[in-house]
Amino acid sequence: MGAFEVRTTERSCIVDITACVREELAASNVTGGICLISTCHTTVGITVNEPDSDLFQDLLMRLENVVPRDGRYQHPDNSDSHLKAMLLGGSVAVPVVNGNLNLGTWQAVLLCEFDGPRPRTVRVDVVGD
Ligand code: ZN
Repeated sequence: MGAFEVRTTERSCIVDITACVREELAASNVTGGICLISTCHTTVGITVNEPDSDLFQDLLMRLENVVPRDGRYQHPDNSDSHLKAMLLGGSVAVPVVNGNLNLGTWQAVLLCEFDGPRPRTVRVDVVGD
């Protein structure tokens, strides 16, 4: 249905995109159903969690421990970026209730960049019930 662009500012960083998703959802005029937030990029993850900058740093640090940038990879240059993105997945589906994303108090939609900085496109598709 719609899409928006996010310009990331570091090689690895996490951006709260909830407000942009809400704008696309509002434009859809769907009041109940499913909102699919997805990206066509292979080095970006999309997830739902708490939008806390300390937590973002903890996640990035732990992912770096699991998949270090410098490793014995076959794929050139950015294999770690692809692997980190695969661990998180490239889309999330969030229920739509009364025209709003049905997120908990501490939940936000997060774009996780692993090969920035660069512009990223996020799609928002809403299916009404
Ligand atoms: Zn690559």
